Amino acid sequence: MRYLFLVFLMIVEIFCCRRVEIRVNTSQTEEPEIRVAVLWDIDTVYIVGDSSLIASNTLQKTRRIKPNAFLTAVVKADSIILLLAHERLLTDKQEIILQSSGNIKIGRYVNKLTSYYSKISIKKDVVHRFFVRKPLTVVNILPLEKYLYGVVSCELGTAQENEIEALKAQAVIARSYAVALLKKKKDFDLYGSFQYDQEYQGAEREYRTAKLAVDATCGEVLRYAQEIAFTQYHACCGGKTTNGRYPYLRSIIDSPKHSKTQTPFCAGSPYYNWKVKLDYRAFLDTVLFLAGIGYKFYFIPELIVDKKTGRVNYLKFTADKEYKVSGEALRKVLNLRSTFFSIKKIKDSLEITGKGWGHGIGLCQHGALAMARRGYSYREILRHYYYNTKLAKIY
Ligand SMILES: [Zn+2]
Repeated sequence: MRYLFLVFLMIVEIFCCRRVEIRVNTSQTEEPEIRVAVLWDIDTVYIVGDSSLIASNTLQKTRRIKPNAFLTAVVKADSIILLLAHERLLTDKQEIILQSSGNIKIGRYVNKLTSYYSKISIKKDVVHRFFVRKPLTVVNILPLEKYLYGVVSCELGTAQENEIEALKAQAVIARSYAVALLKKKKDFDLYGSFQYDQEYQGAEREYRTAKLAVDATCGEVLRYAQEIAFTQYHACCGGKTTNGRYPYLRSIIDSPKHSKTQTPFCAGSPYYNWKVKLDYRAFLDTVLFLAGIGYKFYFIPELIVDKKTGRVNYLKFTADKEYKVSGEALRKVLNLRSTFFSIKKIKDSLEITGKGWGHGIGLCQHGALAMARRGYSYREILRHYYYNTKLAKIY
């Protein structure tokens, strides 16, 4: 009897402990939904649902639409109008939401539709980081882990089985990046493009190894002093990364133990070294344009390079006064792979010799892939690129 009572006490204790554990988990977060801007600067959206669709507006009016019906959303008289053939199904001044138990195909061209998970919001007059002419923005709203299947597939999806640890590191930082941006903006959280945030091409582009890596790290993010780290990353650092805005995004030598004497992890990348040749006069004219000078003259430019990171801070030249053009502005206008470059004048041309691809902040994807092939775990890869961060499971 006494034995049975002890067993009973043990069961109570286990039950209580589990309850505490569950309470701790739920007091953190559940898997959030993310709002990804997938189309912007458009005035017509083409839509087809592979299952039936429910369309609703901000006045709670709803319409059910049969599978495979071809819909169009346009703007007329300051409202969004949802059309089935020429029939008006729904109208709203701000937003129309489409939901389905299956996928929804949308696009800016009739013959080029992309499949997205289950919930689409079509919004009017959203504020963007850049100038847009046309009024509509399309936002895909979906669970974060499903979004990550797409992001990791786009960013590193063609990686091989022996590179899975790099994919896991990519999954963790893509998740941290997204969570750091959650609910910061009114209309959406981030862009589905590598140019502004992270590449995401909907439900169509998902690779098996990428999905495995996302599942293996479900809910894991990087933290720095209780904050979710804003884990920027890039394709190839060219041997050393550069400094970002936060202490954990500091410049490192991308080699074992950050050693200057060892070969960088990304040295085998096709983007490790690059070279481009430009017409010297055309280069000077570009610099004048960037400096805001409307007339042309000859000058000798000087590159000011950050000694630690190797990146071009700015280019300076003297005319009526001293002018400066930032390395990042030069990179964008000349379509250079990075600001990690030097210049050399050879007769009438300019040779630009550079290293790496991307902004150079945070994880170097080609370095991470090489680390994985050499047996490093995703935890070691993350520690290598993000100074003093900790892995945390938030759901
Ligand atoms: Zn690198």
